[in-house]
Amino acid sequence: MRRLLGKTGGPPNGWMYIHKGYELKAGTEKALQVKVRQHMQVNGDPIPRNLSEVIQDQICSRIPADLCSGKDPKNFNISPSDLYKGTRAIIDIAIRGKRAFIPQEEAEKRAKECAACEFNQSYKTKCMRCRIVYGLVSGFVRQKRTESDGELGVCVLCRCLNKAQVHVAGDVLRKIRMNPEKYPTCWKRKIYEEK
Ligand code: SF4
Repeated sequence: MRRLLGKTGGPPNGWMYIHKGYELKAGTEKALQVKVRQHMQVNGDPIPRNLSEVIQDQICSRIPADLCSGKDPKNFNISPSDLYKGTRAIIDIAIRGKRAFIPQEEAEKRAKECAACEFNQSYKTKCMRCRIVYGLVSGFVRQKRTESDGELGVCVLCRCLNKAQVHVAGDVLRKIRMNPEKYPTCWKRKIYEEK
């Protein structure tokens, strides 16, 4: 099982555990354990003795590998709310057509930043929902390319496909809510701060 290497400040996406499709969130590790335990009890599920490790292992499946110890393969899992937000963004892009995209020059700059970022991770995954969503997103930006495409994967902070999101206008991306404070000072954080 993977373990978080440093817990100060919490994981990049916050303390969150998905149990039976429900996203349980808390401000601290202990508070999350309480919520998870309660949720498992209410659902009649056995509570693992090593609950802390179980929670950490799941969190480690969503964040950069170098923030965790252990060698289990990364396994991106899209949560129900990720799926909802991703679908909303896809619909928005479809409605706006060309107006949903930014000029090529700007997309190249974003792509370079993502390519050099620790939160850009490859996303080989067995998760069928992830593949469907990323396949749909890729379809909408099929004609769009950048010179950095070969180095772009998924942003583990927002679960967005970097190859696609670097082309999309700020007001579309702002609909995919996330916590800007968890981001490095990258192009995407600036979009959230501009609004
Ligand atoms: S969007 Fe920002 S945090 Fe995410 S991979 Fe790109 S540069 Fe990194």
